[in-house]
Amino acid sequence: MAWDFSTEPDFQVKLDWAREFVRERVEPLDLLYPGRQFHPLDDELRPIVDPLKQEVRDAGLWATHLGPELGGLGHGQLKLALLNEILGGSPWAPIIFGCQAPDTGNAEIIAHYGTDGQKERYMKPLLEGEVFSCYSMTEPQAGSDPKQFTTRAERDGDEWIINGWKYFSSNARTSAFLIVMAITNPDVSVYEGASMFLVPTDTPGVDMVRHSGLAWEGPDEGMHALIHYDNVRVPDENLLGGEGKAFGIAQTRLGGGRIHHAMRSVATCQRSLDLLCERVLSRETQGSVLAQKQFMQGDIADSYAELQQFRLFVLYTAWEIDQFKDYRRSRKNISAIKALMPKVVHDAVWRSMHAHGALGVSNEMPLAAMWMSAPVMSVVDGPTEVHKITVAREVLKDYKPAPGLWPTAHLPAKREEARHKLAEHFEHVVGNS
Ligand SMILES: Cc1cc2nc3c(=O)[nH]c(=O)nc-3n(C[C@H](O)[C@H](O)[C@H](O)COP(=O)(O)OP(=O)(O)OC[C@H]3O[C@@H](n4cnc5c(N)ncnc54)[C@H](O)[C@@H]3O)c2cc1C
Repeated sequence: MAWDFSTEPDFQVKLDWAREFVRERVEPLDLLYPGRQFHPLDDELRPIVDPLKQEVRDAGLWATHLGPELGGLGHGQLKLALLNEILGGSPWAPIIFGCQAPDTGNAEIIAHYGTDGQKERYMKPLLEGEVFSCYSMTEPQAGSDPKQFTTRAERDGDEWIINGWKYFSSNARTSAFLIVMAITNPDVSVYEGASMFLVPTDTPGVDMVRHSGLAWEGPDEGMHALIHYDNVRVPDENLLGGEGKAFGIAQTRLGGGRIHHAMRSVATCQRSLDLLCERVLSRETQGSVLAQKQFMQGDIADSYAELQQFRLFVLYTAWEIDQFKDYRRSRKNISAIKALMPKVVHDAVWRSMHAHGALGVSNEMPLAAMWMSAPVMSVVDGPTEVHKITVAREVLKDYKPAPGLWPTAHLPAKREEARHKLAEHFEHVVGNS
């Protein structure tokens, strides 16, 4: 019997350690240094952060997103999912464990498609946790429709010159390098005519025009850059994975990125449920604690059931990726999870926030900030609609049209067929008697 929902005892020990470590040692960073996790370490933070990273390394849990075949310490996606369920509750934890987006996906594509020189120069420092990286694909006029991308890269001798605009390039302001998607052959479909380039951030012509922030961030805190690539020159050796290969590479990157977001979102839902349960047991109104009100019981049941459904789907898909070792073969389930994620997060956080009343919407609880992750998750790495379209397309591959006018389940035809089958049976019985 192959179905098994248990965790290996050895890995459970590591998970238990991680849970305690995040709660006791990492959460203080979340509380005292919010929003600092993607900035280079200064003299104040380095003495705190470096030893924590070393403890994670010693525990064998550092940068576990890459498997040994790609040069990492990874234990596979299923174990990463179980770990990310813990790390997802803390903004600093992915950094301390060396598996933060977007660097995970960026390291993964260099591991898959990079030359030895690219791995040495770009992937190694990334895996050591010493630098950050940025993935620069979305443009101001087009995100989910790459056919509208216009950023160009043209060959000039043994160099490429990149010109164009990119928008919402996360962490560009603190990154050592950018992975830029640009059109190298405008005469074919973008899916065959786009390429990826590794561009050191200090290359002349990389002009960060502004840094957009998310809704709750202050005007100077934005991490998502509008970048003008203005005659940016890079040598041929900075082409990643070959000319015209950008979309194959992007699938690898985004496939991993999407499921890692989902793994971390399980943590958001679990935390919401934990806070909801604590609150309804603590707060009394109209003669009883909230836990005794049927509306609240309904909320708890819904949050619990939706979390279990979502979590099992995420774990199943992670397991499937470990089996196939190819994100493209898990595209249907990755997209289904991606489409499901914002609603599950939204509903779970909303119920918890609402049960806390005014306190829930205040800045004295983490719930309002958690709630914003629902709209973010519905857009980042492709909007929900686009993923639903992918799911439908993949599901439909297993079906074909009905052979005639009526559906194959049309009852009159099925009854007729059944009559024929039984008639044959009765003829057989009569013939033998
Ligand atoms: C927090 C965050 C971080 C990000 N980081 C990066 C990054 O590091 N690098 C990067 O390159 N990009 C990044 N992005 C950008 C992200 O990839 C895009 O926002 C996303 O692809 C959608 O593109 P868009 O914003 O241009 O929306 P649009 O493509 O304009 O879509 C807007 C809306 O139109 C609807 N829609 C779109 N397509 C369809 C369709 N086919 N059918 C029906 N409705 C549709 C959806 O409701 C969608 O939300 C980030 C975004 C966020 C929010």
